[in-house]
Amino acid sequence: VWKNCLKVIRASVGEQSFKTWFEPIRPVKLHHTVLTIQVPSQFFYEWLEEHYVNVLKKAIYSELGAEGKLEYSIIIDKGNEQHQPFTINISNPKNVKPVDHSPLPTQKQFFSPFDMRTVPPHHAHSNLSNKYSFENFIEGECNRLAYSASFSVAHNPGATAFNPLVIHGGVGLGKTHLLHAIGNEVKALFPEKFVLYVPSDLFITQFVDALKNQAVQEFTNYYMQVEVLLVDDIQFLAGKEKTQENFFHIFNYLHQSGKQIVMTCDTAPKDLKGLHDRLLSRFKWGLVADVQVPDYTTRLSIVKAKMQTEGIKIPNEVVEYVAKNVDTNVRELQGVLISLVAKASLMRQEIDIDLTEKTLNQIIQNVKQIEVDLNIELIQKAVAEHFNVSLDDLLSGTRKKEVANARQIAMFICQNYTNMSLKAIGEYFGGRDHSTVSHASRTVTERLENDPLYKNIIEALKAKLNLRGK
Ligand code: ADP
Ligand code: MG
Repeated sequence: VWKNCLKVIRASVGEQSFKTWFEPIRPVKLHHTVLTIQVPSQFFYEWLEEHYVNVLKKAIYSELGAEGKLEYSIIIDKGNEQHQPFTINISNPKNVKPVDHSPLPTQKQFFSPFDMRTVPPHHAHSNLSNKYSFENFIEGECNRLAYSASFSVAHNPGATAFNPLVIHGGVGLGKTHLLHAIGNEVKALFPEKFVLYVPSDLFITQFVDALKNQAVQEFTNYYMQVEVLLVDDIQFLAGKEKTQENFFHIFNYLHQSGKQIVMTCDTAPKDLKGLHDRLLSRFKWGLVADVQVPDYTTRLSIVKAKMQTEGIKIPNEVVEYVAKNVDTNVRELQGVLISLVAKASLMRQEIDIDLTEKTLNQIIQNVKQIEVDLNIELIQKAVAEHFNVSLDDLLSGTRKKEVANARQIAMFICQNYTNMSLKAIGEYFGGRDHSTVSHASRTVTERLENDPLYKNIIEALKAKLNLRGK
């Protein structure tokens, strides 16, 4: 009987819903017209009742007629079952709403990064990296609140005042580390809990896929089962209206059912543009904690800890030198250590202050070089786009008037808004010499003073490139 019911159900719900909500059901017994099914949890039962009652009614009706009844048996914990009196009354099948015949999502496009078909979800993939734990996170003045809040949340998920917990701060300061640490700790303490780490760009991709495949309901269902939801870098949700709206619903549902939510963000939520007020206002329900650039003492501890785990041996004075000079973020601090070790072994040389200084200088140079490349390319692209000429033309020798005009402006902007020399700029423009660049720049400056329309063009370009001043 149940098998036939499943056929009816299968024809009425999406593939994803079917696997998530119907495959785990076990038929227990059939007594006259009363069918008893076993469901894995109270939550599961409530969900069925709330979302699939009509589908179930229809299935029971088709198999057992108007007399048919359904009873639930709920697994409370292992071996312990509770009998739930039947709640589905199908004697009035005319009330059955038409069922949704939306096309099935194709599995392949759907949620590729996680196996969302895994049922029950408690065995679903959490997407956690075991590299990050509380043990290998160094606590300091800079991250104390974020650290201790994360720790409490991990030990009492959903049961502290820190819900949601929002951790914000610059890159490389340990936000992602803390999220994984929470996830791993929860998994260790409460193995049955469904923990899910999701970077928000992935959440967006999944949601967009779900939209395309008309599987938003399944997408939402899936997330609503999560018990500890860890969302990384929510600034990416900015401007994504539909995704935000869906996230808002999931958020509310989880929050109301006492599930833990932790999010990270690269700016303080109050400064975050493009996020809905109604979502932002929810953050005040919990705790907003920041992580800051570590002070010298913390940096020293971080370097020492990293040396220990990686088995790196470095003289004390070098350790202090690195901790003193690399004061941007932890990722960079670790990067420097790795380069140092790599260099020393390549050059068969001891790691001393001299080598360290050279390495540091080189790293700084590299970073600068990358920034310059990026800027000049951005400028060239923006100008070419603005004047509707191709990038190739812009860098070529052509003297066509509109191209030459655009090229002069691009050179002018490079000269005024990057730290590059005239010579270097010339090289980036197809190997022209420095006098061409300075001539171009002078021409533009003169025209700017006399031609308000021209000035508007330059201002528009500057706005586009986020350039200020001058
Ligand atoms: P964010 O997400 O804030 O950009 P991450 O969490 O990715 O930064 O941290 C960058 C790197 O620095 C990671 O390898 C992380 O393990 C390490 N890290 C950051 N903060 C700490 C800390 N307080 N103690 C130990 N390692 C840290
Ligand atoms: Mg991160």
